[in-house]
Amino acid sequence: MTDSPPPLLLTSDDHFMREALRLARKAARQDEVPIGAVIVHQGRVIARSWNQVETLKDATAHAEMLALTQAESALGDWRLADCDLYVTKEPCPMCAGAIVHCRIRRVIFGCPDGKGGAAGGFWNLLQAPNLNHRCEITPGVLGDECVTVLKDFFAEARKRKLLGLAHTKGVAVLPEMSTDGPMFDGP
Ligand code: ZN
Repeated sequence: MTDSPPPLLLTSDDHFMREALRLARKAARQDEVPIGAVIVHQGRVIARSWNQVETLKDATAHAEMLALTQAESALGDWRLADCDLYVTKEPCPMCAGAIVHCRIRRVIFGCPDGKGGAAGGFWNLLQAPNLNHRCEITPGVLGDECVTVLKDFFAEARKRKLLGLAHTKGVAVLPEMSTDGPMFDGP
């Protein structure tokens, strides 16, 4: 017997969401809307990604989409049935559709998106009864931190715009953001 913490702590939802948050901050440094995602298989991270829409000039380059492709490559299979996906913001309909196609077991997200979320925020495509796969959903893991990363990014982007500094991608299309309302329109 030892006094060391149980192994479960090393594989907790918080632990993997912190890794997704690290990737979200990396996105922010690249002037991308800061959303990060990791996919975990048997307690091991097999995919890490962040939103790269602007970098890749690809509207489908959301963190989840890129992570799914990485995970498929890592396992050599499009079926990700034993995999869990952690993402800092509730997935959009595009990503939710892809997640269902890949048969992800569980989706864990940080902050909800009541305007465009497809994991119960506006739609619930992850658990649609007419689709051939449904995911477990765990919302709100490190939700406050995930919201803060997004709010800080948009606040900084607005400040730069107001000061007439270097153009920040996407700022022109951002809606006004209240301190407690929906965060933004996407991705
Ligand atoms: Zn998406």
